Amino acid sequence: MAAAVPSREECLELDRVDPLAGQREAFALPTDVIYLDGNSLGALPKTVPERLTTVAAGEWGQDLIGSWNRHGWIDLPLKLGDKIARLIGAQPGEVAVTESTSINLFKALYAALEINPERKVILSEVGNFPTDLYIVQGLIRALGHRHELRTVPAADIAAAVDRDTAAVLLTQVNYRSGALHDLAAVTRAAHEAGALMVWDLAHSAGALPVDLNGAEADFAVGCGYKYLNGGPGAPAFIFVARRHQARFSNPLSGWLGHAAPFAFEPEYRPAAGIARALTGTPPILALAALEAGLDTVLAADMTLIRAKSMALGDLFIRMVEWAGGERSGLTLASPRDARQRGSQVSFRHHDGYPVMQALIARGVVGDFRAPDILRFGFAPLYVRYVDAWDAAAALIDVVATRAWDRPEFKHRAPVT
Ligand SMILES: *Cc1c(COP(=O)(O)O)cnc(C)c1O
Repeated sequence: MAAAVPSREECLELDRVDPLAGQREAFALPTDVIYLDGNSLGALPKTVPERLTTVAAGEWGQDLIGSWNRHGWIDLPLKLGDKIARLIGAQPGEVAVTESTSINLFKALYAALEINPERKVILSEVGNFPTDLYIVQGLIRALGHRHELRTVPAADIAAAVDRDTAAVLLTQVNYRSGALHDLAAVTRAAHEAGALMVWDLAHSAGALPVDLNGAEADFAVGCGYKYLNGGPGAPAFIFVARRHQARFSNPLSGWLGHAAPFAFEPEYRPAAGIARALTGTPPILALAALEAGLDTVLAADMTLIRAKSMALGDLFIRMVEWAGGERSGLTLASPRDARQRGSQVSFRHHDGYPVMQALIARGVVGDFRAPDILRFGFAPLYVRYVDAWDAAAALIDVVATRAWDRPEFKHRAPVT
């Protein structure tokens, strides 16, 4: 059994000396909620409502269509891309903010297959996030069934890359277990076999240091509404390494990726650089909210974010295992070593769904992932040590008292 855990008072002291403690002020959080779902929907930055009002009433309402030029609306996809670049080890001009993660995956994979036309396999991980696999399946259909999706367990990826592999598609942090891939090592293994590497950074961007250029990654995509705090359905991002941009072929060749959108030419000519990854008119209100979200992350030091994220996860695991014990029915589903985890901790429980509903009823908000995963995300900008302590105590109490065993906690809502 694990060693004794810090007391609640010791957690309050950790919060007092936490160099990130001041960042929590930037968020509007309900006082009676411990929010451990920033990995699914980041919290609301306090600047967002005012920013949205400015853009809607001040810009849209006053300057109407002139705002595209006057307020720089047309520049937002690449301007925000440059901000995200700072968080993922990319250069200015390598990232665009556009569409959803799913759609950007389609674009990146299509481009990778065009660059590697002799090879027919897209290699991914068993248990990758479903949209990633669905998008590959749709792409293979769209290309006339000339390619194959191969999935292997995470540990076998490096060994499974071979001369048939056109691209390796992986999510750096597994959405269920939180297990973290070594981005540089896997990218190297892909390249040694002549494959291109596509990373999904949905649970990495804003949560841990990522160095795409250091790893010589080829393509990446990621989410705006998770650790980047961009709001529900925020636009996503796509990274194309500069060395591939001249050959990057966007299958959704819309006018905003054209070299001269307002020349209205009949033939598509791709823009130079990352702008060719764009397709249609950008969602300005959503981009305005995302920019405010990005600024909350850019205001903090990523090394501190990562250190606190690991400490919060460790604290939560120790608490649950120490106080809950084996009889709790909770088993750790995440790597115990924080260096091998993203910013979430997952436990399995046979009655995971009602357990999570009972926790949410007590104001501890995590989420449930079928079939039996209780998932707790630790967004270090606004989650405190005492929150991890209180959440663990609530979880232990819910399972020890079977507080979850009530009909109202077993009714499944459409979103879990
Ligand atoms: C959240 C998530 C997505 C989301 O894709 P959308 O197109 O924004 O719905 C994609 N991939 C992974 C790995 C995710 O965790």
